[in-house]
Amino acid sequence: MTTSSMSGRFSDKVVLITGGCGGIGTAACRMFAEQGATIVCSDRDADGCAEVVAKLRSDGFDAHPAVVDLGQAEQCEALVADTIAEQGRLDVLINNAGIIPRGDILNTTDAMWHDAFAVNLHAIFYLCRAAVSVMSAQGGGTIVNTSSTWGVYPGPNHIAYTTTKGAVASFTRSLARDCAPLGIRVNAVAPNEVNTPMLRSGFEIRGLDASQAVDELNRTVPLGRIAEPEEIASAMLYLASEDASYVCGAVLEISGAKAVCG
Ligand code: NAD
Repeated sequence: MTTSSMSGRFSDKVVLITGGCGGIGTAACRMFAEQGATIVCSDRDADGCAEVVAKLRSDGFDAHPAVVDLGQAEQCEALVADTIAEQGRLDVLINNAGIIPRGDILNTTDAMWHDAFAVNLHAIFYLCRAAVSVMSAQGGGTIVNTSSTWGVYPGPNHIAYTTTKGAVASFTRSLARDCAPLGIRVNAVAPNEVNTPMLRSGFEIRGLDASQAVDELNRTVPLGRIAEPEEIASAMLYLASEDASYVCGAVLEISGAKAVCG
């Protein structure tokens, strides 16, 4: 398979994915690539980024690494500028990167609070501002942010994380309202538990066997299991595609019908 022979919902589109070598990000990079997109896989993890890009390229896809720390405003702005300089356009921005400081208010340090806001919320503001400027000049585009059901409802004992994810949902609805007249659709996914390193690391930190803990978690979900990364990535694809041409300002809960509890 070669890039020129591929066609799909994202042929000729440039898709920038942050957190591109994490659990959901890796799945999103591959699924957008399979639909014909040129992928800019961005992450702070240089080795992880290189690995994702190398695998995509070896399968004939068009992918490019972009190593940045989204905790730095100027790196967020440079990421969009470099994408335009190297790929010529930006059609889809997937704001997927995130961190999950764990703790209630008494166990949340200043650094945990500020880091959560820097990566989970402020980076999305800087990236969206830069992307909206480019997309409005291009005549349109789509943005998908990543919230969480734990941000939309009160998830327990992760006060910094849940506050930032609630803000992402609110930011998404406001930005969609402002950008719809520019031909830019903005939406968000709000997953509940997903089988990724972010989730598994939480069990490992508590000294639990991650696979056993996931088995137990599966039994708490009405659909019978937590989500796989591809099941969140496919919702990102849908929201970014013309199939969702009238979906704007939505925060799509992807929960297997599980309520936030605890
Ligand atoms: P993950 O930890 O596997 O991936 C996150 C990626 O973001 C990593 O590759 C990491 O290197 C990158 N990243 C973190 N800080 C960064 C920074 N400062 N600069 C650049 N890159 C940075 O996590 P995941 O589970 O794939 O999560 C992806 C998104 O989905 C996150 O926003 C997360 O909050 C959200 N989410 C995850 C779950 C879940 O259960 N896994 C549930 C709801 C929402």
